[in-house]
Amino acid sequence: APKHYSAPAGALLNKVILVTGAGDGIGKTAALTYARFGATVILLGKTTHKLTAVYDEIVNAGYPEPAIIPLDLKGATAKNYHDMAATIKAEFGKLDGVLHNAGILGVLSPFEHINLASWQDIMQVNVTGAMLMTQALLPVLKLSQQGSIVFTSSGVGRQGRAFWGPYAVSKFATEGLMQIIASEYEDTTVRCNCINPGATRTSMRARAYPGEDAATLKTPEDLMWLYLYLMSDDSIGINGQSLDAQIK
Ligand code: NDP
Repeated sequence: APKHYSAPAGALLNKVILVTGAGDGIGKTAALTYARFGATVILLGKTTHKLTAVYDEIVNAGYPEPAIIPLDLKGATAKNYHDMAATIKAEFGKLDGVLHNAGILGVLSPFEHINLASWQDIMQVNVTGAMLMTQALLPVLKLSQQGSIVFTSSGVGRQGRAFWGPYAVSKFATEGLMQIIASEYEDTTVRCNCINPGATRTSMRARAYPGEDAATLKTPEDLMWLYLYLMSDDSIGINGQSLDAQIK
């Protein structure tokens, strides 16, 4: 990716982009940014009032009117995702991008204390939900001239670290999922990549590092060059990569 890509105004005009976890943190900023660059954004998340707040912000700014899909990835079934894909097809006729951003951290703990129920929740939300959603959305992504799937990884998805247990394993799995899809859809109009946001000022980061001074951290806005790049047509041909949003 070109270092600190600068998207032209209207870079995402006429694109329909789904963002998971769009109510808070990085996903909220990504949704607002995609709308600012002209995309019709589909806001998916667990907490409806957070999604409606983002919806209002987008509409009040005069950006294209978004859509809202309240969905808890923990309980969602393949049928939920297929119904969602059918609605997207009926409403928009295609899908140009998916940002798989929703994720949970769980609790950091020694390996010997990992709790099975918590392990399964983290794998369900961070990996299985994104996998099922991608399966259901591929037919509508193929209706786009250029479909872009973006997964969210982490530094601990590339190198394991003590106490990061299920979260780290879920991010390794995310990298694997991305590589498999990228390799299967190579030479098609669908591309698939990962973003590693790096340490970012959000409530998830604050939970992982309660003693840290958040003012020292990059904000979601600082990362948006890469989030824009991978959804814009300037990244056509980029496939199977895991890219860092924080580079010197
Ligand atoms: P936040 O906790 O601030 O936001 C996470 C978002 O995901 C929220 O909107 C949340 O919705 C949504 N979400 C969580 N669980 C579910 C669920 N079951 N169903 C639907 N939506 C859900 O996290 P960040 O913005 O910090 O993280 C975004 C992504 O970036 C994650 O994948 C994270 O792992 C990754 N990341 C973050 C880093 C950081 O330093 N912040 C570093 C590396 C990776 P709700 O608010 O309604 O619960």
